[in-house]
Amino acid sequence: MDDAFLGMGIPTLLLLIIGWLIAGAVAALIAHKRGLNPIVFFLVTAFFLGPLGPGFALLAQPDANPEPAKRKVADGRRRFVCPRCGAENDIPNEDASYNCWRCDEHRKVRPVKALVDAPAGPAE
Ligand SMILES: [Zn+2]
Repeated sequence: MDDAFLGMGIPTLLLLIIGWLIAGAVAALIAHKRGLNPIVFFLVTAFFLGPLGPGFALLAQPDANPEPAKRKVADGRRRFVCPRCGAENDIPNEDASYNCWRCDEHRKVRPVKALVDAPAGPAE
């Protein structure tokens, strides 16, 4: 009685757990190859889907619209996000103000020299 659990012997239970973990590893591998998050698929398969996990990894659609990489700010410019419309404005370092290209909001900004003393972004 002491080596039985839910009517299964310990070896059977171990085999089941190992099989579950292998399914998780396979699902993680498939997910990784398809540009999905392998850790998520491993955990979901190991704890929930079991042998069905690899199938889900095969059917899941990778994110069709991943966030585009942030544009780099060119040398000699700095970036301000317009507080009114959220547009990114890359302005020359020496400029003390700018007009937002999208909504025409006029903003004063600290010149670069002042930023050394207070590196805090756009001035109010
Ligand atoms: Zn704006």
